[in-house]
Amino acid sequence: MTYLVTEECINCKHMTCVSVCPVDCFYEGANMLVINPEECIDCGVCVPECPVDAIIGDNEPGWDPNRIEAITIHNQKMSDMWPNITEARDPPEDHEEWFGVKDKMEKYGSEEPGLGD
Ligand code: SF4
Repeated sequence: MTYLVTEECINCKHMTCVSVCPVDCFYEGANMLVINPEECIDCGVCVPECPVDAIIGDNEPGWDPNRIEAITIHNQKMSDMWPNITEARDPPEDHEEWFGVKDKMEKYGSEEPGLGD
């Protein structure tokens, strides 16, 4: 099992999750974070840290397994490309406007890397 970051993170990017991860397995894109599924130890401590519920398990009840597989592939791919992030910074100034926006990945998904630590 692993935990994963969903598209809900896009442009919300609170980053509170990265500070609590015991194995530092978050990676930073320009507008979202991902988890490296191979490094995550499934502790779950990051889940309640996310104020927009952007972190799910790969066996999350009620989620389409095909969608979870696509999210897993995305988290793995981007964590191989993006820099590691272990220290939280402030979220984007307009983060509240992005909460609950639909189809974020399709409309706003980006492979641009973030700053990292
Ligand atoms: Fe890190 Fe634990 Fe969250 Fe996995 S579940 S990303 S190990 S804090």
